[in-house]
Amino acid sequence: MKPPNPECFNRFPTLLIISDRETRKIEYCNDFSAAVLLYSKTDLEHKIFEDVLSSGSIIFFESYIEPLLKEYGECHEVQITLLTKEHLRIPAVANISAIDNKLYWSIHTAVKRDKLYQELIETRDSLEEKTDKLRSLARTDPLTQLLNRRAALYDLNKIMEQNKRRYVPLAFLLIDIDYFKKVNDEHGHDKGDEILQKLAKTLLKSIRSADIVARWGGEEFLIVLYNSEPTETCQFTERLHEQVNKILINGKPITISIGISQTNTESQHIESIVKQADIALYQAKNNGRNRTEFFKEYDPILN
Ligand code: GH3
Ligand code: MG
Ligand code: MG
Repeated sequence: MKPPNPECFNRFPTLLIISDRETRKIEYCNDFSAAVLLYSKTDLEHKIFEDVLSSGSIIFFESYIEPLLKEYGECHEVQITLLTKEHLRIPAVANISAIDNKLYWSIHTAVKRDKLYQELIETRDSLEEKTDKLRSLARTDPLTQLLNRRAALYDLNKIMEQNKRRYVPLAFLLIDIDYFKKVNDEHGHDKGDEILQKLAKTLLKSIRSADIVARWGGEEFLIVLYNSEPTETCQFTERLHEQVNKILINGKPITISIGISQTNTESQHIESIVKQADIALYQAKNNGRNRTEFFKEYDPILN
C-alpha cells in the first residue's frame, strides 16, 4: 500500500495537533483544528498549546495530564476546554501520546454531547423537583396545609421505631372542635372551613419542631408532643385552650376538647395509643367539652 499523503489528515473530522513538549509550540495542525479554533492554519501553527486551552485546562494539563504522560507515555479521554481565537469555550475530549519530544493530540469536540448531558441533568433536576412537590402534596391536607393522617402515621412509625432503641416520652393529643356542626349550620360551610384553617395555624404555632401536628380527619386533629411528661403536656393544653379561645366566630370563642394518652416504655403500638386518646376525648366531651382529659392510667391528678 502506498504511504498516505499528509494531506489526508485534513480530511479527518477531528482535531489533530502535534506540539513540542519543551517549547509547547504547535508544530502541526490539520485543517479541522484551524476551522474549529477559528485561526488560519499558519496562525495556529505559531501558537503555543496553552493559547488554545482554558485556564482551568492549563492547570489540569500541568497537574494531571503531564504526570500521566511522563509515567505512561499516553493519556486517554481527558476532558478539556478549548479556547477559540474569539475566546469561545469548546468542551472537548483528548487522547494524547508523548513520543520523543513531541505530543500527538487527537481531540474530539464534545459540544453536542455536553448539551445532551446538560439537558439530561436539567430533566433530572426538574423531575426531582416535581417528585418533591408531588410527595409533599401527597403528605399535605389541602385545606389546612397540615400533614394528613397517612403522612402523620408514617412519621410516627419512624419515631416509634427510634423509641424502641432510646425511649422518649410522647404525648398523643386528639383534638376535636366542640359543636362544629352548629358552626356549619349557622354560618355556612365556607365559614367552617375558615375556622379549620385558623385552628390549624394556631396548632402549628403552639408546637415545637420535633412535635407532630396533623389533620386526623374532619374537625379532628392529632398532636404528638415529643419528649413531654404529663405535667408538661398539661401546661401545653392549658395554653392551647387559651389560644384556641382567641378564634372567634361572631364574637364568640370556639372551643376544643382534648383527649390525651401518654406513652410509657411498654406502649409501643400507635393504634392502641390513639385509641386511648380517643377514649379520653370521649370523656372530655362527656364531662362538658372545652377541656382536656388524660386516659385514666396517666391522669396526672390520680398519679
Ligand atoms: P362535638 O362537640 O360532639 O364534637 O360536636 P360536633 O358538632 O363538632 O360533632 P359532629 O361529629 O356531629 O360534627 C362534626 C362536623 O364537622 C360535621 C361535619 O360537617 C364537619 N366537618 C368535617 N369536615 C369538615 C370540613 O372539611 N369543612 C367543614 N366546613 N366542616 C367539616
Ligand atoms: Mg368529631
Ligand atoms: Mg366536634
